[in-house]
Amino acid sequence: MGAAFFEGQSEAVSIDTAERFICSTGAIPILFDGDGKALNLGREQRLFTEKQRTAMAARDGGCLMCGRPPAWCEAHHIDHWDEHDGRTDIDSGVLLCRFCHLSIHNNRWRIRRDGGDYLLEKPDRDGTLRHTRLPSRSPALERLLAG
Ligand SMILES: [Zn+2]
Ligand SMILES: [Zn+2]
Repeated sequence: MGAAFFEGQSEAVSIDTAERFICSTGAIPILFDGDGKALNLGREQRLFTEKQRTAMAARDGGCLMCGRPPAWCEAHHIDHWDEHDGRTDIDSGVLLCRFCHLSIHNNRWRIRRDGGDYLLEKPDRDGTLRHTRLPSRSPALERLLAG
């Protein structure tokens, strides 16, 4: 089991917590594996700007998974930056509250984009990948689509 350390802090945090933190803030902690060897995770991580976050809040209306308000939310990169070209469009980010964000990273679930919709991808008990639609929580967007 690895651990991560943030600059200026002596307490180790779990890799999952560190990955969630990197995803949301772009800060790069130094990661160590069980033998105390530094893991090579010091890659460049693109950041969402505050403007993009605001746009996401207007679009998503809050946590896409549980509906908590934007103030509870962090921007989650749905594309892992080692698999894609690191585009930082608001299309590749969604708002998730701290709890849902952490559980996505802990469980290694993915959020996929399907046209204008987002899908939660997670394995069933038998390992089959299932996709659940994550509707926007935004009343503004709802009115726009209804009108
Ligand atoms: Zn949530
Ligand atoms: Zn994330």
